[in-house]
Amino acid sequence: MATSTIKSINPSDYSVLGEVAASSAKEVEAAVVKARQAQPGWVSDLAARIVAMQGVVGEIQSRAPELAEAQSREMGMPIKESIDDIASVVEFLNWYIEHVDVAFTTETTFAGSDEVHQITRHPYGVMASIVPWNFPINNWVWAAGQSLPAGNTVVMKQSEEVPLCAQLLTSILDRHLPPNVFTMLYGAGDVGEQLVQAGADFIGFTGSSATGRSVAALAGKQMIPIVCELGGSAPGIIFEDANLNAAIASVAANRLLNQGQCCDGLKRLIVHRSLEEQVLEALADVFDSKRIGNATDSQTQIGPLVAKRQLDLLDAQVQDAIGKGAKPVCGGESLEQKMEGAFYAPTVLTNITPDMRVWTEEVFGPVLPVVAFDTDEEAIALANDTTYGLGAYVYTEDLNRAYETAFRIESGMVSVNGVNYVQPFNFFGGYKQSGHGHQHGHFGFAEVTRPKVIASPA
Ligand code: NAD
Repeated sequence: MATSTIKSINPSDYSVLGEVAASSAKEVEAAVVKARQAQPGWVSDLAARIVAMQGVVGEIQSRAPELAEAQSREMGMPIKESIDDIASVVEFLNWYIEHVDVAFTTETTFAGSDEVHQITRHPYGVMASIVPWNFPINNWVWAAGQSLPAGNTVVMKQSEEVPLCAQLLTSILDRHLPPNVFTMLYGAGDVGEQLVQAGADFIGFTGSSATGRSVAALAGKQMIPIVCELGGSAPGIIFEDANLNAAIASVAANRLLNQGQCCDGLKRLIVHRSLEEQVLEALADVFDSKRIGNATDSQTQIGPLVAKRQLDLLDAQVQDAIGKGAKPVCGGESLEQKMEGAFYAPTVLTNITPDMRVWTEEVFGPVLPVVAFDTDEEAIALANDTTYGLGAYVYTEDLNRAYETAFRIESGMVSVNGVNYVQPFNFFGGYKQSGHGHQHGHFGFAEVTRPKVIASPA
């Protein structure tokens, strides 16, 4: 049988960057079997694991420019952002390595004269991991960066959009980790589905909510634990007492990062009516001022979307809104013809109604619908008017109001006045259709290990 291949396309100009053979069903199965055989050796020596992971970080650091360039070329992330992104890869991995003891913290729940009760923690064994394309290197870090030092072996399927980044990363990992401790698989959803059924001990899935639901159902049938990090449609609320210039700068930077292809990015802006006109005008100025171009060009501020299919989806969402009465304050069109790549004009939309796809669906691109509110109650209701619950952003000079609002927004993470909650010491994770489970911090280590009660005589 002929091996199927996946093509890597540069979204800045649609040129073909290369081809990678998709993993066969046999390879998927063998990867999990070999990962299981490698796990006892890997878990047996914490010091060796730390040295191996430090080797990985060291090489990532020394090859940061090459990795950043590869992400920009294959995924479309502007090179300046890509360089920062690789710096965050190093920061997060270092934190995991420094804090790996947290994964094995023993809790004494009762110590009497006759009995001692303790809860210990242990790695699961083999992790099956499936990740999307939007941060080709960092998605590996977030999914596997705590799992590996905690003593699991990992079989990962990277997205079919970024196979060359996956190959480059794997070549680094292979130089530092013992054989079969980490295996990369290549291919589309069918390969992911095979991996979910290949007998791993737990699953980490990062991707859209629709795929997450089907992967979780499959995991459920096998009673395999799963962490789901899914989509989002984060609200941002600008109250009338906000520091407006700072809020606008924060909203624009957030919405345009990685061309708006961030799971927890601010995707629906809710503004006090008294500020609406001012905010629309200021946002349009910022959005219009951005330099759009080839992602690897150091002058580029907005690159292409990852692929034509994402561009077409985004345009369909925007045209649906315009067809239902939304008004573009800026942008509102695909730049594909003009620029011969997957480019979309940064867009601010007003006259939004709740039936529009830009309000009800996740919008993965540089497009921001803006609605006005009169009362705090109304702002919170609008913020919660979504099936998602990943991030949320609140702008006000009154911290009591900020906390009150944060408590009432149905999301896993809330940022006040632009303070970045994405930190290795916090957790990252959502409510509602944004998934369940956590990455980073002690919550992340808890997900990649399982607890055991040991009750013994004192
Ligand atoms: P996607 O759901 O289409 O694909 C994600 C991964 O799942 C890919 O590797 C894909 O090949 C694989 N897959 C597809 N069908 C499958 C199946 N039936 N069984 C097993 N695997 C399957 O998502 P995408 O378009 O690659 O990524 C964008 C989505 O990811 C957005 O919704 C974004 O919000 C989300 N995301 C979430 C987080 C988070 O931490 N919450 C982080 C990054 C991205």
